[in-house]
Amino acid sequence: MAAVKVKRNELPKLLEGAKAAGYDVFAPARAAEGWAFAPYEGGDVDLDGYLLTTASVKGFVLPQLEAFLSYDNDDGRLAAAPEGKRLLVGVRPCDARALALVDKVYLDRGFRDPLYLARRDNTVLVVWACGRPAPTCFCTSVGGGPGDATGADVMAYEAGDDLLLEASSAKGEGFLKAVKFGEASDAELDEAKATYAKVAEAMTPLWDLEAARPKLYENFEAEAWEEVASRCVSCGACTFVCPSCHCFDVVDEGKHGRGRRVRFWDACTQSPFTLHASGHNPRERKAQRYRQRVLHKFYYFHDNWGENLCVGCGRCVVACPVNVDIREAVSLVAGAD
Ligand code: SF4
Ligand code: SF4
Repeated sequence: MAAVKVKRNELPKLLEGAKAAGYDVFAPARAAEGWAFAPYEGGDVDLDGYLLTTASVKGFVLPQLEAFLSYDNDDGRLAAAPEGKRLLVGVRPCDARALALVDKVYLDRGFRDPLYLARRDNTVLVVWACGRPAPTCFCTSVGGGPGDATGADVMAYEAGDDLLLEASSAKGEGFLKAVKFGEASDAELDEAKATYAKVAEAMTPLWDLEAARPKLYENFEAEAWEEVASRCVSCGACTFVCPSCHCFDVVDEGKHGRGRRVRFWDACTQSPFTLHASGHNPRERKAQRYRQRVLHKFYYFHDNWGENLCVGCGRCVVACPVNVDIREAVSLVAGAD
């Protein structure tokens, strides 16, 4: 795979090159609350103090709300697949890993969601290895890491004044060939990767998930679920900021035979998620709903796909208005008698 070396102060030149090659470029920028991906307008990309954007990159490939069908009496039309190449720079490894997990649901096992597929194909993720994880980060406890390349198209490693960019997919290879910079050597890459491996080693493992996973399910009826969810106010913030939560609801909007069919993010921590048309709700208590969220992350998805659905980004820990902490939930329930 191709690898190039760019001086840190040449990043604007790289991004201008990407724009000239036809990419819409997005990079992290300070926002009203925290950081958000914003269109790159030129100039330096100041990542001082940047760790994660408040919202993950998931919305770039799975918009929070989108019309996938419109209809006019008997005439129905599926939404056209979105076009145009996009380059997202400064994505963190946990977010790229999360998209690789969401890919399984939207693209594997016989069904390929056409809108999701088009956006994934059109989007290049330039993933920035993490040198300074936050106290709320726990990627290494769930299978990832600060230098994990899962889901990345290009990995970016900071090495002094240099930035080493290594392609990790055909899309990434195409991007690095489109922007012409000098090659990075294997020795330079190995040295940079070793630095990030040390960052990973310094992160304390939270639990042994192989041991905790079966306990979470065995303790399905444990009182501990009530305890961990007692403060939850069912706001759904944890699911909306989560890079790997992928459930949606569908509604028809229209009248007089004309309208559109819309899908939008849904949240299993909210009561209407499982409300039946009869009025019955199999998860009417918040402990039942929070249990669903935790078991989906660490048990059900693993049962289906062999991976944890949590990537340890810690966004839900930060976003929860009442300090419900998924790390503590796993410890408490897995440790319950
Ligand atoms: S469950 Fe929380 S920590 Fe895990 S991926 Fe989602 S937001 Fe991040
Ligand atoms: S963010 Fe906190 S309060 Fe809101 S639904 Fe999630 S756990 Fe409950």
